[in-house]
Amino acid sequence: MNEVAFFENEMQSSPLYYIDSYGGNNVYIKRDDLIPFSFGGNKVRKARNFYKEIRDRKCDSVVTYGSASSNHCRIIANMCKAMGIQCFVVSPVEKYESTPNSKMISEFGATIIQAPLNEIGVTIDNKLEELRRSGHNPYQILGGGHGNMGTMAYVDTYKEIKEFEETNNIRFDYIFHASGTGTTQAGLVCGQLMNCDERSIIGLSIAREQVRGRDVVKESIIDYISFAGLDITETEVEDKLHFYDDYRLGGYGEYNDEITFVIAEVLEKYGIPMDTTYVGKAFWGMKQYIEKEKLMGKNILFIHTGGTPLFFNKM
Ligand SMILES: *Cc1c(COP(=O)(O)O)cnc(C)c1O
Repeated sequence: MNEVAFFENEMQSSPLYYIDSYGGNNVYIKRDDLIPFSFGGNKVRKARNFYKEIRDRKCDSVVTYGSASSNHCRIIANMCKAMGIQCFVVSPVEKYESTPNSKMISEFGATIIQAPLNEIGVTIDNKLEELRRSGHNPYQILGGGHGNMGTMAYVDTYKEIKEFEETNNIRFDYIFHASGTGTTQAGLVCGQLMNCDERSIIGLSIAREQVRGRDVVKESIIDYISFAGLDITETEVEDKLHFYDDYRLGGYGEYNDEITFVIAEVLEKYGIPMDTTYVGKAFWGMKQYIEKEKLMGKNILFIHTGGTPLFFNKM
């Protein structure tokens, strides 16, 4: 197995800087899309933790799940290629689409195993079983890098944000980001709870509806609390968990002309690319939220969670 320099090196903080004064607030952006591995994004942060476990457990293959256009699968396939280990991506047939991400996943030599949505679980189990039976030592990664390793990645990101605040003598009243499988939000909220910070972390759902979406984030938080042995109550979790589905539109992948407009504006004004599925949608949601809640004079941080290749799906 090859050691991969990026993952072996200590993580550098991603860039964080002021962009604009929407509605009389100070809006900053944290560029996790610029994390220097495989076009960046929040899935690289999660991948760092998986990398360490794969290395320590001497695994020789990875089995993961995701659609052909998944940022998570691109990064895991790239990481496996760099490590010189096999990568199996179980992918729903229903959602197959040829995109820059899907082309890269194939380019990295990952084996795509297509299965109908209702047979995903058994397909993953069978693959793991088959690998073990033939003397392999596979490592399983859930879709989107879900789980405590993924959550931990954003507990660490929260530390980066705290360091920025301390160095620059500023405090963010709000932190906004796109919320999907919920691990990013779970990690940030755990970081907040561990530090007893008063502020609002707002996860803007890009797919799931309120009840289920929020429950999944909550489960991830509770899971991490017990995993890390933290002394945090469920009431405290409830109090800090802000998951909004007001801007999800029809659900995953759905967007409208306003989002396309905001994306063009952000690229033209700040030179920052955003996609319609995650980051552009969340950025639009944040702008709507600022207006609706009449936020004024607040320090606001938006986390750009990546997805740069998705920008080119529309080109
Ligand atoms: C996966 C993803 C998200 C959502 O992160 P979760 O931890 O699944 O909530 C947000 N933005 C981008 C670009 C992503 O790829």
